[in-house]
Amino acid sequence: MDNQFTKAVNIIPQTRTVLQEFFGLLSDKKPVILIGLDPETLSLIKTNFPELYFSYTKSCYNPKLALVAISKSKLLATITTSLLDTKMQSKDCYKLIGILLGYPQCCIENFLKYIDEDNDENRYNASKITYDSLKSSKKLSYYCNNLLNFSTRINDSKKDNFSKFLSLNQNLSIKIENFQYLSHIPCSYDCKESTKYGKEIEKLLKKYAPEVQKTIQSTLSRPVIYFDLFEFVIFEGHMSKGVLYYQKVLQPYGLINSTLSKAIKKGNKIEIDGKSVNVYKDDSLIFTYKKKNESDGFFLDFK
Ligand SMILES: [Zn+2]
Repeated sequence: MDNQFTKAVNIIPQTRTVLQEFFGLLSDKKPVILIGLDPETLSLIKTNFPELYFSYTKSCYNPKLALVAISKSKLLATITTSLLDTKMQSKDCYKLIGILLGYPQCCIENFLKYIDEDNDENRYNASKITYDSLKSSKKLSYYCNNLLNFSTRINDSKKDNFSKFLSLNQNLSIKIENFQYLSHIPCSYDCKESTKYGKEIEKLLKKYAPEVQKTIQSTLSRPVIYFDLFEFVIFEGHMSKGVLYYQKVLQPYGLINSTLSKAIKKGNKIEIDGKSVNVYKDDSLIFTYKKKNESDGFFLDFK
């Protein structure tokens, strides 16, 4: 088994697969994982892990990639791609896929609330889903920080922003897909099942890829101001009584309002209320951003 994990650390980063997800599969925490792969990287994984089963369907994102279900069970891999092929957008279908991908029951049930079978927009409303998760959390565990995991949260209408986001973040020390412990959307940021899963994956990373683990933890355990899917700021700083005191902004950078972004770079303290985001340099107010609604700019204090 040891050998499998070591091999994964060498092989998987050469592909589009997230190492943490692959660890979830190897350690039997995930029955199936689902990835978009090109023919070369697919054969690289197949050659190195001959004991795994692969089932394919077309990727709706990118015509050059196959969407591949990988599992230790041939049956489960096949069921997953058949479910995707039916193009059934029903809640039952999402539920089954969630179970196959090893997502916690509580998080699956929570996510189903956002699926309106006639209207796809709701389930991609990152700002609303994130704000609701915050409201149902007592504290925010970095194990449940899925803000940098975009694959399950993006739809076609936001693809252009993803390209902009990627070009703003070309010099990251690890690939953007790797800033996560969870591949699902947690029901809250202190979800018990998600935290437990995150801890197990972290343990494996500490053992087999310690540098990657350090970078992930150091990025996910920070205060954040969140506006939308690609619109957020991660800070080096701390929160006290609802106020953020910070030294600087950290990568990955979000695509936020440019005047606000300049003010944040000059300032060192931020307060947010129902109507505005207020940036201070020491005690003088240097900029006020008027919020479009309650969830347009709020703090997430991950620890
Ligand atoms: Zn949950």
